[in-house]
Amino acid sequence: MVRTPAAVRDAERWTAHNYHPLPVVISSAEGAWLTDVDGRRYLDCLAGYSALNFGHRHPQLIAAAHAQLDRLTLTSRAFIHDQFADFCRELAELCGKELVLPMNTGAEAVETAIKVARKWGYQVKGVPAGQATIVVAEGNFHGRTTTIVSFSTDTDARDDFGPYTPGFRIVPYGDLAALEAAIDDTTVAVLIEPIQGEQGVVVPPEGYLPGVRRVCTERNVLFVADEIQSGLGRTGETFACDHEGVTPDMYLLGKALGGGIVPVSAVVADADVLGVLRPGQHGSTFGGNPLACAVATEVVRLLATGEFQHRSAELGARLHESLRALIGQGLVAVRGRGLWAGIDIDPALMTGREACERLAERGVLAKDTHGSTIRLAPPLVVTAEELDHAVAQLAAVLAGAR
Ligand SMILES: *Cc1c(COP(=O)(O)O)cnc(C)c1O
Repeated sequence: MVRTPAAVRDAERWTAHNYHPLPVVISSAEGAWLTDVDGRRYLDCLAGYSALNFGHRHPQLIAAAHAQLDRLTLTSRAFIHDQFADFCRELAELCGKELVLPMNTGAEAVETAIKVARKWGYQVKGVPAGQATIVVAEGNFHGRTTTIVSFSTDTDARDDFGPYTPGFRIVPYGDLAALEAAIDDTTVAVLIEPIQGEQGVVVPPEGYLPGVRRVCTERNVLFVADEIQSGLGRTGETFACDHEGVTPDMYLLGKALGGGIVPVSAVVADADVLGVLRPGQHGSTFGGNPLACAVATEVVRLLATGEFQHRSAELGARLHESLRALIGQGLVAVRGRGLWAGIDIDPALMTGREACERLAERGVLAKDTHGSTIRLAPPLVVTAEELDHAVAQLAAVLAGAR
């Protein structure tokens, strides 16, 4: 009995239509593979938008979660728990920073950074009250809150959700002169993604990130790097900023930090920045809870071995080489770093959505982003053979349309 169509219908019947999922209904997963309600297997080439960098149900992460569930799950930050200090210390060390502020979702980490940057601006930089500005980039994706969509340039994300939060200046991504020109005495931060994931895995021109670092230092502005999707091994380094030897003032982390098990996000910075917050000024009921800390500590330990960054770099080179071979065969462009690729399909052939539907029929799950662009981001535990298989299925989908 094929259960998928009924299960798809049921899922659509009872939910707001703020997503347009592929018509697959998953019931279990392990490593890089998903299994649907009818027992069909799919190679996961999205990895939960990089929340599953270590694959589904990584044994070390599952063991940490099980052990913590049997001991303690929540205290709130009103009390200290025994998983808290190790998590904060180990994550701070991974980032080369002094302090950690844990939250839950990526959007909350971004909101936290905005609040911290503004308070830093008023208390340390001396910006006149209520005047703080933050420079952001066109094509950004930083989350879905009302403040964050206020500075989105994606009409779907932004339209009809106003009134919008003021205090943001939008400049073209990758244009250092425009960024510098947007900074004045009211500017407290530059908030950018070191690679724009949702925009289609857009890598800025070489020298841009070091340039942003230099300008921020010269103008006494905080460089806030949203590494929620690009960080934690995805690009072949711990952070996408590492490729150009750049250290931001604040790292924003999320997605993979929770090991694909629980939502965990964090702002990581030095004491001269995060130290502006005093008790009562910011918080979260679930932020830094024992289960989150237990899982995220193991995530940090996996990353501290360097194994996943290494895999991502090596396998990423293979992925990009085989994808580039499809340029002219139905692909028009390939971007990205490590096990992260944005590919543009010839729009005359099909949309990104259609390509993803055909890939799903061939047992490979990926997600389109804008128009004819697909993002490929398999878990970092994927093997070379599995990658070759995914690219072969893509080649077959393209060949079928030509
Ligand atoms: C996913 C994402 C966010 C938002 O994270 P949520 O957990 O969905 O709130 C913010 N920034 C970037 C770069 C992201 O990819």
